[in-house]
Amino acid sequence: MERLQKILAHAGVASRRKCEELILSGQVEVNGEPVTTLGVKADPAVDIITVKGKPIKSEKKLYLVLNKPKGVITSASDPQGRTIVSDFLHGITERVYPVGRLDYDTEGLLLLTNDGEFANLLTHPSHHVPKTYWATVKGVPHGSLLEKLQNGVMLEDGMTAPAEVEYHDVDTEKNQSTISITIYEGRNRQVRRMFDAISHPVILLRRIKFGELSLLGLKRGKYRHLTPKEVELLL
Ligand code: URA
Repeated sequence: MERLQKILAHAGVASRRKCEELILSGQVEVNGEPVTTLGVKADPAVDIITVKGKPIKSEKKLYLVLNKPKGVITSASDPQGRTIVSDFLHGITERVYPVGRLDYDTEGLLLLTNDGEFANLLTHPSHHVPKTYWATVKGVPHGSLLEKLQNGVMLEDGMTAPAEVEYHDVDTEKNQSTISITIYEGRNRQVRRMFDAISHPVILLRRIKFGELSLLGLKRGKYRHLTPKEVELLL
């Protein structure tokens, strides 16, 4: 829900100030009811908003992929003023929302959009989008432990579904290893909890793929628009 004058301005009706004047002069209706005060909120995806009897144009749909740095909150706003993902979306004036979330300390591929239907579809539990992570963990887990992760481990909220797990890199000097893991679910802190369950806690977590989409060529802290083909491939 957003203030009506903001929705009108985003839809390209006029400047925010001019939109306020349009509201005060009784020329704006929401679902057939005239609105003449400035505090009223509406949902452009659901409500029918007209100006002088004509429906406003719906907002252009945006689909972005960001290489989120660690130490950033996956949120569209933060009352405490901490760094949030929208701080990295220079040049984007539309309000976009993250599709799912990455932990504060997780980096990597994050989708953002203003298309609610697209976001709901991709995050719905029945839509098993594969998500691939590189998890740098303490020590070098034995193959049998990786097999365990592959088949499913018991977490507080139940068994995990089968996953694909393989060694990506082993650093014997630092006594740590990087494991590539693809999961088809999206539970809270799932990858970290899976590695906790085999006693190899995660030191660094990076999402490198979401469905067919990869991070390739996207520097940390940078974003780009998805092509229509990429959007189609995700659905
Ligand atoms: N799993 C996690 O533990 N953290 C994330 O941010 C994403 C998946």
